[in-house]
Amino acid sequence: MYEGMLYLFDSYLKSFDATVTVIDSGVSGDIKVIMDRTAFYPTGGGQPCDTGVIVMPNGKSIRVLRVEKADDVIFHYIENPAGLASGDVIRGEIDWKRRYAHMKLHTTVHLIDAIVKRKHNGAFLTGGQIYDNRARFDVDWPELGRDMLPELEAETNQEALMGHAILVKFVKREEAKKIEGLARTKPGEELLNRLEVVRIVEIEGLDQQMDGGTHLNNTKEMGEVKFINYESKGKHNKRIEFTLASI
Ligand SMILES: [Zn+2]
Repeated sequence: MYEGMLYLFDSYLKSFDATVTVIDSGVSGDIKVIMDRTAFYPTGGGQPCDTGVIVMPNGKSIRVLRVEKADDVIFHYIENPAGLASGDVIRGEIDWKRRYAHMKLHTTVHLIDAIVKRKHNGAFLTGGQIYDNRARFDVDWPELGRDMLPELEAETNQEALMGHAILVKFVKREEAKKIEGLARTKPGEELLNRLEVVRIVEIEGLDQQMDGGTHLNNTKEMGEVKFINYESKGKHNKRIEFTLASI
């Protein structure tokens, strides 16, 4: 069911060979390409899509502007299809600088989630969004004031430096349902009940989540975390924005 979604199996895959199966010029003028396999991450789960290029058999490159997924089909929106044909074997190359920043930010959200849950009784993350050079998360933590941010930031940096491994596992639904806290939201629970095989991302010893994103192999790669904004959006929702010194 995850066939052809190479990024789910190897977050560090920067280029790959694939066969073009469909080129579709839509009514809106968008040009979409479907391939039998891809390492391009499609927008989803709070993580922006990859960009990059498709290198055609004649050596020319076409830019991949954005990538989206619908019903398990991944659509690559490209700049100019001239010379590209269905059946072509192409080389996909993702913009690694952009992707690696997303991986770092995404993994940082997981680590903060784990710390909040473990150390601050009853508090939990309710959402997050990754941007190119920063990310934000929402946390249900009524007591969290601006004055507490330096401590949370220090805790996050300490844990990151401890070098926790991040593991990706594929687990049958019935096994996955026995793991506590795997699905954190209502749509997450519904998804868990639908999937035959569940992809689980674990920060070793700290946290497990059902997750389709791309992550680091180790928290050491994150670099220093800096909180840059705090906003109280009501008693139960505090929004924090952060960046990383390494991106
Ligand atoms: Zn994730």
